[in-house]
Amino acid sequence: MDHFHHLLNLNTQIRRIWGELDEKIAKYASEARYSCPSGCGTCCEYPDIEVSVLDCIPTAWDLRRLPPISKSTKTSGSSCPFYQGGSCGVYATRPTLCRLFSFSSRRNKSGEAELVLCGRLRETLKCDLPELAAGSAKDILLLAPMIDEWSSRVATLDFTLGQRRLPIAAAMEEASAYLEHAGAYLNTMPQNTRAYECEDKSRAQ
Ligand code: SF4
Ligand code: SF4
Repeated sequence: MDHFHHLLNLNTQIRRIWGELDEKIAKYASEARYSCPSGCGTCCEYPDIEVSVLDCIPTAWDLRRLPPISKSTKTSGSSCPFYQGGSCGVYATRPTLCRLFSFSSRRNKSGEAELVLCGRLRETLKCDLPELAAGSAKDILLLAPMIDEWSSRVATLDFTLGQRRLPIAAAMEEASAYLEHAGAYLNTMPQNTRAYECEDKSRAQ
């Protein structure tokens, strides 16, 4: 497969996996009955969230036609460069980890599923968590996407780009450079009209 078709395939495959993942998260969240508190974006208030270059391909794809100043990922240093006015500026193409955070599970040392929760939700749900982790609520917990499984589904689409993990601004710039390297034919690609839209960061509400 040539470079162009490999990029085209990656962009399509990542979005397809994210579509499946979003459905799974929505189903889990509706059963588990919790959501991010309105207006919270604490998990975006870190400039060095690590993601893979591969995870940034869809955003870089959408941003490629914007003037350099508009698609700059330079950050003031206090938050993710895409966190703007309390919302994610690249919500539709936010990386896998951003989708999974606090709506996913992992295996503990005993091999049992346990929730991966941020401090804010851990505090909010502290009364409900024991129920969610045991008894009848265990069935609900099993609906939560496994963080390793879904991260790996994306990462294995391209081993090199999937393994290359960097702070998000650097990962995004590398993904953009990767696409620009193929720039001779990028101009012939259809523009994704959903580029750089702002949507509420809050999930599963
Ligand atoms: S996962 Fe939700 S509740 Fe937790 S810090 Fe992020 S936005 Fe806030
Ligand atoms: S990409 Fe969006 S969701 Fe992810 S950390 Fe940045 S602002 Fe938050």
